[in-house]
Amino acid sequence: MPETELTDTDLHFVRRAIADAVANVEIGNRPFAAILVDADGEILAEDCDRTALSGDPLSHGETNVIRTAIQKFGLGPLPAATLYVNSEPCPMCAGTILRSGIGRLIYGATGAIAGPYLSGGRMLGQRYPSDAIFALAGDKLQVASGVLLEEALQPFELYVAKATA
Ligand SMILES: [Zn+2]
Repeated sequence: MPETELTDTDLHFVRRAIADAVANVEIGNRPFAAILVDADGEILAEDCDRTALSGDPLSHGETNVIRTAIQKFGLGPLPAATLYVNSEPCPMCAGTILRSGIGRLIYGATGAIAGPYLSGGRMLGQRYPSDAIFALAGDKLQVASGVLLEEALQPFELYVAKATA
């Protein structure tokens, strides 16, 4: 699981995923969004977590974009594609990223930072085991985490503000 160099394009898409997650909270969903981009910087799929409004616990941003991209383009583009997420993928999505063969993952808030916002503090100090899952990909998956961390907190702060309003 090698680290990856970040480009301006990477920062652009992390910011866009953060903005998508904010918009998702504003319509009553959870604070997560994902964008899958091919090697040329073209968006293959862009979606949000829709679990709250759909009632489908599998409807995470990452699973939604991976499914949509595979239906449209097949698995072919995924090893050269980059997945941008506003925060660390959960274990289900980490497994889906692994199984789909995506070559690069860039995300904002780590689970350790985002978790307490979502659990009323219960997940304080806990980490997702996503790194252990990503490590199974060996050098086929590059990962960068904690990107634009302060901006990446915005969807979570809005989510808590709405929940306590
Ligand atoms: Zn997930």
